[in-house]
Amino acid sequence: MSEQERRAELAESLAQVRDRLERACRAAGRGPDEVELLAVTKNFPAADVALLSDLGLRSFAENREQEARGKVAEHAELRPEAAPRWHMVGQLQRNKARSVARWADVVESVDSERLAQALARATANALEAGDRSGPLDVLVQVNLDEAAGRGGVAAGDVPRLAEKITTTSELRLRGVMAVAPLDGDPDVAFATLSEIAARLRVDHPEAVEVSAGMSGDLESAVAHGSTRVRVGTALLGRRRLISP
Ligand SMILES: *Cc1c(COP(=O)(O)O)cnc(C)c1O
Repeated sequence: MSEQERRAELAESLAQVRDRLERACRAAGRGPDEVELLAVTKNFPAADVALLSDLGLRSFAENREQEARGKVAEHAELRPEAAPRWHMVGQLQRNKARSVARWADVVESVDSERLAQALARATANALEAGDRSGPLDVLVQVNLDEAAGRGGVAAGDVPRLAEKITTTSELRLRGVMAVAPLDGDPDVAFATLSEIAARLRVDHPEAVEVSAGMSGDLESAVAHGSTRVRVGTALLGRRRLISP
């Protein structure tokens, strides 16, 4: 496929996703600018990120640190003026904290105090080395699926982890993130998440973000107060492996 054809394809899918989002917001009585569209570019090349930048997107997400760090650098070369915000949304090992602190603006998948501590340290180092210019925004990932380990802390552990995050000066607690269970009702899951988020805001009013909803369930997430949908497949197509 030529770059021109790919650009047209992405423009069309972006228009469709924006249309879905707008309808979902209207149905929920919310304004279209209350929900941010985050493009999940995992398994797609930096060239696609560049085209999405051209189409006006400014927020991108990756779920594997190693894949992301190269792509972020490559995109910066392709579009030096774009100034995107990069989100890490996948499970993160503590030994990757150093690297993630150099490229991520937001880590949405913080699910342990030890990871939070490692990220705070890594952010301090990156600031000192001049590899980043500000604190790291973080979300607490909540596990809504007791059956499967898709990452995240149990609802009951959210307050303690949130407290831990706010004791660091390098991390900024911004809210919660979750993935709906594969085989459950997303309405039930996102309603639960909405309650957890509301309880968190009592003690941490700055934690306003609710990152919820993907290609298959963004309407449900928006109905339950999501402030950020993470969309991969509906924007970029079915994931294929990028060549190394
Ligand atoms: C891949 C991924 C998404 C996007 O999923 P799609 O169904 O492709 O839209 C969202 N969130 C996380 C955490 C992901 O890993």
